[in-house]
Amino acid sequence: MGTMPRVAVVGGSLGGLTAALLLRDLGCEVSVYERSHADLEARGAGIAVLEATWRYPVERLGVPAEDFSSETTWVRFVSEDGSMVHEQRHPYLLSSWNAVYRVLLHGFGRDHYHLSSEMTSFEDDGEHVTLTFADGRIEVVDLLVCADGITSAARKTLLPEVTGGYAGYVAWRGVIPEAELSQGTYDALFDTLTYQVMPNSHILVYPIPGPGGEVEQGKRLMNIVWYRNVAADVLDEFLTDTNGEIRVLSVPPGLMNEQAIAAMRADAHALLAPQLAEVVTRIEEPFVQVVYDIEVPRMAFGRVCLIGDAAFGVRPHAAAGTAKAAEDGWVLAEELAAADGDVPTALAKWETRQLALGHDLLARTRDIGRRSQIDGDFIAGDPRLVFGLYRPGH
Ligand SMILES: Cc1cc2nc3c(=O)[nH]c(=O)nc-3n(C[C@H](O)[C@H](O)[C@H](O)COP(=O)(O)OP(=O)(O)OC[C@H]3O[C@@H](n4cnc5c(N)ncnc54)[C@H](O)[C@@H]3O)c2cc1C
Repeated sequence: MGTMPRVAVVGGSLGGLTAALLLRDLGCEVSVYERSHADLEARGAGIAVLEATWRYPVERLGVPAEDFSSETTWVRFVSEDGSMVHEQRHPYLLSSWNAVYRVLLHGFGRDHYHLSSEMTSFEDDGEHVTLTFADGRIEVVDLLVCADGITSAARKTLLPEVTGGYAGYVAWRGVIPEAELSQGTYDALFDTLTYQVMPNSHILVYPIPGPGGEVEQGKRLMNIVWYRNVAADVLDEFLTDTNGEIRVLSVPPGLMNEQAIAAMRADAHALLAPQLAEVVTRIEEPFVQVVYDIEVPRMAFGRVCLIGDAAFGVRPHAAAGTAKAAEDGWVLAEELAAADGDVPTALAKWETRQLALGHDLLARTRDIGRRSQIDGDFIAGDPRLVFGLYRPGH
């Protein structure tokens, strides 16, 4: 086997960590550089966990998915009066960004995971890539993997013409300890991914692990994702936080303006099934994530590549964002092994596969978004709604 490249992964979230672990397993010397000053523990939002996301912890770290995910048996659609419209048995693994991050970071260890390391520029001379950091540090590697997320500065440098498109709606998010719910609401929701479809809107409610990673029923959190349209011309006003700052990607818990929260709660009482309204209105610090589409024409540039949200930002309807980020890492390791460590050869083959995946996933999630938020032909139990990376259910 040829010599494996020395690798820098910029961005130490789920995509970056998965790629770093896989490339290290291949024999590469890998360092992760993360801009944040502290561990990224504060991101409490729920995520559905698809195979590409749980595969590394399960296959390589020997941590069963049940240790960091809650399981649900049913998918149920309810109507405004709370009655069931459709139900199907379809198990899902549901987790939180925090719970998956903890497992991956523990697996990678701290020695080569560098916090307070914001990459400010890079240069590829064909033989090596030189990275410069905000504090003046310089690193030279053979392969730079940019996993710096939806606002990727690397993407802006490599593809300045690509800009994010606002999807026309945001997701209200938040969690409440399931033990605080009324018995009737807990019974209705604890083993279910629950949807309600309304004109120009839909909501999902599901249990996720507790703040310390607890997966036992009764100790978990109930999590919401409520998609609501916000016209582009009032988006800035909507995203102005309690400090007067206009946010772009999300308004974190505790900083969403009170007026918007009050309006959202009033709408919840008016529009949502009683069991869902109870969850939504009792969340103390609801927050907002903005839904964007980002589509790139290229992901590989000599010895540099873009992975995860740094490449394609896809709407969350397939619950596949972290799975796509992780899959970018799995396929990169596969192609690097096949190319015997030759970076440009591996990246060219990798790019063909991952561009196809990104374009397909984006098209599929746009279609769900259009049908649910605009056209109104989103039907309870539609098989296209089943979560999946390559296609519904896969
Ligand atoms: C409403 C909503 C619901 C979602 N639901 C799901 C779901 O159910 N399932 C799912 O799989 N996905 C879901 N996602 C998507 C998922 O959150 C993302 O796809 C995923 O976090 C992308 O991972 P990433 O590692 O590519 O980027 P990110 O998680 O964005 O991480 C990027 C990292 O790079 C760091 N960084 C940025 N710039 C620099 C720099 N210059 N130098 C060093 N570090 C830098 C950042 O600090 C950050 O830690 C959802 C998203 C939204 C908005």
